[in-house]
Amino acid sequence: FSRIWPKVSGIQSNLEQLGSLIPSFHALLNLQNECLEAKELSEESFKNFESIQIKYGLQCKNVSFRYNQHNSFYALKDINVQIPSNHMTAFVGPSGAGKSTLIDLLMGLNQPEDGEVLVDGKRLTNENIFSLRRSISYVPQDPFLFNATVRDNLLMIEPNASDEEVWGALEFASAAEFVKKLPNGLDTLIGDRGIRLSGGERQRIVLARAILRKPSILVLDEATSALDTENERKIQEAIEQLKGKMTIIVIAHRLSTIRNADQVIVLDKGRVVQNGSFHQLALDSNGLFSLLLGKQSEALLVNS
Ligand code: ADP
Ligand code: MG
Repeated sequence: FSRIWPKVSGIQSNLEQLGSLIPSFHALLNLQNECLEAKELSEESFKNFESIQIKYGLQCKNVSFRYNQHNSFYALKDINVQIPSNHMTAFVGPSGAGKSTLIDLLMGLNQPEDGEVLVDGKRLTNENIFSLRRSISYVPQDPFLFNATVRDNLLMIEPNASDEEVWGALEFASAAEFVKKLPNGLDTLIGDRGIRLSGGERQRIVLARAILRKPSILVLDEATSALDTENERKIQEAIEQLKGKMTIIVIAHRLSTIRNADQVIVLDKGRVVQNGSFHQLALDSNGLFSLLLGKQSEALLVNS
C-alpha cells in the first residue's frame, strides 16, 4: 500500500475523483481508512516497512469484538485460534458468523475490544501492523480493480515486476488465457471506462495481483465464489502448489475447496464451535460442519 499511497494522498481530498478511480464504494472506504492510519505515521517510518518474516504464526487470544460499543451484539466473542506459518487454515461457517471480521482483526484492520492478536507471540503494534500487511496479500470478498489497464492493475502493487512475472501470476490465477484474448492484451483498459469483466474474471485478476507480490501470507476471503467449477478447480490446484511455501488463510465458499486444509475452524454466531481437520470434522455427525457439508451436497444434487 505504501507504494500507491503517494498517488492516493494527492487526490484524497477530492472524493469524486477518487470515486472514479476506484469503482467500489466499500474499497473506497477501506482505502480512506488506510489513508487516515497511514497519515498517523511519518514519511520516515515508511522506509522501515520491511515485510516481517513470521516464524511460528498468528494467534488470537481471547479475542472479542463489537462493531458498535453501544450495542450488546458481539461479532466475535472469546476467540482463541492459532494459525501456524506455512500451513493452510480454512474458516467456515454460515453467513454472518464473523469470518471476515476475524480476518480483519488478524490483519490489524480492526482492533479487538478484548484479548489480543499476536504475531510470533508478540502483540500487533502500530509499527508491526504495517510490516505485517506488507507480508500479506489479501483478496477480499468484494475485490476492486482500478480503471486502468490489466498491466497497471497488477503493477500498482508490484511496480518492478517483469512481464514474465506478470504472465506467471496470470497463469497461476487461470487468467492468462482470457487476458491474451482481450483487444490489447495486458494493455487493455478495464473497469467502468474500459472492458467490463465478469465477476469471475475480476476475481482471477485480483488473485494474480495478490500472487505477484510473493506474499508470505495469502488471505482469500471467498475469493473464488464467482468462478465456475472448472476455474475454481484450477485455482484450487494452483493453491495446492503453494502449500508449505506460504501461510494460506481461506474463507471457503464451497467446502469441497478446503478438503486439503491443514486446519478447519468453524465459526458460528461469533464463536469458534469446531476446530480440526476436514475429515475429523466431517466425522462428527452432530457438529455444524457436518450440517453445512450435508446442505452443500444436497444443493449439488439439486443443481446438477
Ligand atoms: P461472515 O464473513 O462470516 O459472513 P462478518 O464477519 O461479515 O461475517 O459479519 C459478522 C457479523 O458482524 C454480522 O452479524 C454482520 O452483520 C456484522 N458486521 C459485519 N461488518 C459490519 C460492519 N461494518 N458494521 C456493523 N456490523 C457489521
Ligand atoms: Mg464474509
